[in-house]
Amino acid sequence: RRKWGKVLGVLREVEEGCETSVGRLKQVVDAMAVEMHAGLASEGGSKLRMLLTFVDNLPSGSEKGTYYALHLGGTYFRMLRVKPEGQRSLALARDVERQLIPQHLMTSTTEDLFDFIASSLKEFVEREENGSAFPLDRRRELGFTFSYPVKQTSVSSGILIKWTKGFAIEDMVGKDVVDCLQQALTRKGLSMRVSALVDFPSLVNDTVGTLALGHYHDADTVAAVIIGTGTNACYVERMDAIIKCQGILTSSGGMVVNMEWGNFWSSHLPRTSYDIDLDANSPNPNEQGFEKMISGMYLGDIVRRVLLRMSQESDILGPVSPKLLTPFILRTPLVASMHEDDSPDLAKVAKILGDTLEIPDVPLKVRKLVVNVCDVVTRRAARLAAAGIVGILKKIGRDGSGGITSGRSRSDVRIKRTAVAIEGGLYTNYAMFREYLNEAMVEILGEDAAEQVILEVMEDGSGIGASLLAASHASHG
Ligand code: ADP
Repeated sequence: RRKWGKVLGVLREVEEGCETSVGRLKQVVDAMAVEMHAGLASEGGSKLRMLLTFVDNLPSGSEKGTYYALHLGGTYFRMLRVKPEGQRSLALARDVERQLIPQHLMTSTTEDLFDFIASSLKEFVEREENGSAFPLDRRRELGFTFSYPVKQTSVSSGILIKWTKGFAIEDMVGKDVVDCLQQALTRKGLSMRVSALVDFPSLVNDTVGTLALGHYHDADTVAAVIIGTGTNACYVERMDAIIKCQGILTSSGGMVVNMEWGNFWSSHLPRTSYDIDLDANSPNPNEQGFEKMISGMYLGDIVRRVLLRMSQESDILGPVSPKLLTPFILRTPLVASMHEDDSPDLAKVAKILGDTLEIPDVPLKVRKLVVNVCDVVTRRAARLAAAGIVGILKKIGRDGSGGITSGRSRSDVRIKRTAVAIEGGLYTNYAMFREYLNEAMVEILGEDAAEQVILEVMEDGSGIGASLLAASHASHG
């Protein structure tokens, strides 16, 4: 008894649960814009924290010098050296080294994590400056990109609010992130200036780094989005719109706001029982709801949960494989490989089901069904991310809807050319995700407005951007 009917029922239910019609996406757009307002109006006014970054000027393209940057992401830790030469059009000379963050350090102590970072950085600097006479204890400028929610009090200090993306180092919550790094650098005998300089943007959220690199290349860049292990966004807001924080004057009259949009929530988000279970079994229930539907850390596990249910309801996947019961065993890059398997017999799908989930000899019809599940989950994620981006554009009047100047007919509304910097392994490596996101942008904005909105991929943007911010402040500030 194969019980196809049951399985198709499960599929249909998932499809319905993940429904993202343009109408619904537009509701998500509106909800995002409304929550942004609320988060700017008062502390705790929204699930969107809308954190101040104290970055008020973005790189102009004229920066010069040699700068280091460090980026602690969700999966990788990156070290960079960047040498801008004062001309926007020139390719940026850069060296980048990437390391997997050892799993045990994610749940260890602050000291263990930062000692590891400081030692790696020391070795990187030694390799980079091999043969030069610049002693290790001479000062170097370092931009630090930290991709977890931090409450900043200035550009050179910030307190960790909470961990996300699988990190859980309890003794660090509430500590100053820059202090932790600075102390480890001192322990390792490496002199790098993470703070000290007046107005030195030493500590930046990764989205802010991405925005900075985007702005270095294209002055029309107003927002940045990261879609990797986790997801987040930032954008340039007018100071007078940041009602919760009056009295700060910036030379540009604006400031970059770190939305922490992974924590966005709205009743309009299409939520399934699989999302509810994933959330309930996560270390941070009721938090990062948007992120749990969108980002690379979670997509694979949503797919696994659907396959598990199908396996429990029928015998199309044989006896329920214990692997299917193992959380996070199916990683998002594997979902991408299955989804994008273009071989006629879906050989890659069969191989991944066999190797990773230990489900052997899956017939073609069932392989197709698995591809279907990957498609539904990824399509929803990409379309919701697109709605989030349009939500930001709407908040700052760049979505072509005309905002308050709505006297003119809709076709008269001209939208200014607008660039959004985008980064992250899910967006850059997963072509289907990218296509679905781009397609939804056009559906929501309409073709005319969508033509004026450019999504620009910033490779290693968060790290490079952080060092450019350091450069920008050193040369103008
Ligand atoms: P991080 O967010 O950890 O700083 P990245 O931006 O490089 O780093 O994102 C890495 C994440 O991107 C991985 O956790 C994974 O979920 C996702 N990813 C990487 N490669 C692929 C791929 N080929 N297909 C789909 N997702 C991918």
